[in-house]
Amino acid sequence: MWRVGTVVALHDETDMARTLTLEVPDWPGHVAGQHVDVRLTASDGYSAVRSYSIASAPNPKARVEITVERLANGEVSPYLTQDVAIGDQLELRGPIGGWFVWRPQQTEPIQLIAGGSGIVPLMAMIRSRSSAGGTAPFRLLYSVREPRAVFYGVELQALSNHDSPLKVTYAYTRATPKDWPRPPGRVDAALIANATWPSNLGPRCYVCGPTSFVEAVAGLLAGVGNSPDKIRTERFGPTGDPK
Ligand SMILES: Cc1cc2nc3c(=O)[nH]c(=O)nc-3n(C[C@H](O)[C@H](O)[C@H](O)COP(=O)(O)OP(=O)(O)OC[C@H]3O[C@@H](n4cnc5c(N)ncnc54)[C@H](O)[C@@H]3O)c2cc1C
Repeated sequence: MWRVGTVVALHDETDMARTLTLEVPDWPGHVAGQHVDVRLTASDGYSAVRSYSIASAPNPKARVEITVERLANGEVSPYLTQDVAIGDQLELRGPIGGWFVWRPQQTEPIQLIAGGSGIVPLMAMIRSRSSAGGTAPFRLLYSVREPRAVFYGVELQALSNHDSPLKVTYAYTRATPKDWPRPPGRVDAALIANATWPSNLGPRCYVCGPTSFVEAVAGLLAGVGNSPDKIRTERFGPTGDPK
């Protein structure tokens, strides 16, 4: 079922990524980790559908936030990040997904691992925990190209300062802040061993990002003893058009 959402706020997360807040009057509610499909239709009837994770925590206001990263040669993401204005209406379908979700009733240690825009559904989990007053200890390992590509940096800093059960570790792949202890590089076995919960605590792991990132990280998590049934993954590959 397609619903119509009105854009009520826009916020640039980085030079390349924008958060859109949509008010969806008949929104049925969502769980952190789910996504929506967004459909754009041109005046000649041509339409394109893409999936976007929900960034916002479940809330009573019927508001849904998505954060879209612009791909230079993309069909949909340049429009959503550059052309959409407040007051515009977008069609969306969802919420979708029941596997890659976190609910405040979960109390086990949570390990979140994001690659680039894969932070979006993990941020919804962090926000959901915070707004529900959840007590599960959270760790986030966030792999990102460079400091200025970080989404939600100020909010993550505030939450980890004031909320000790959230620990955030950044892994920069191309450029680091000055005097950063780790040279630029991909997430590797040493980082997984140092920056994630020990497997004997039985953490639930959520990994999201580009397909190659997700596969590599899931392998590394299994390599340090995490049971595959504790590792949930979401791949941000091309969505394509399910016509
Ligand atoms: C479940 C799910 C959730 C997603 N959530 C988000 C989200 O929260 N934020 C977000 O920015 N994106 C998200 N995506 C990706 C999103 O659906 C689109 O694929 C992305 O916005 C590109 O669409 P486009 O029309 O601009 O590019 P397209 O016109 O579809 O593609 C342009 C070019 O880029 C390549 N490409 C397409 N998508 C990707 C990609 N994700 N990574 C690398 N290359 C790609 C294509 O192969 C093509 O060569 C999600 C995908 C899935 C499956």
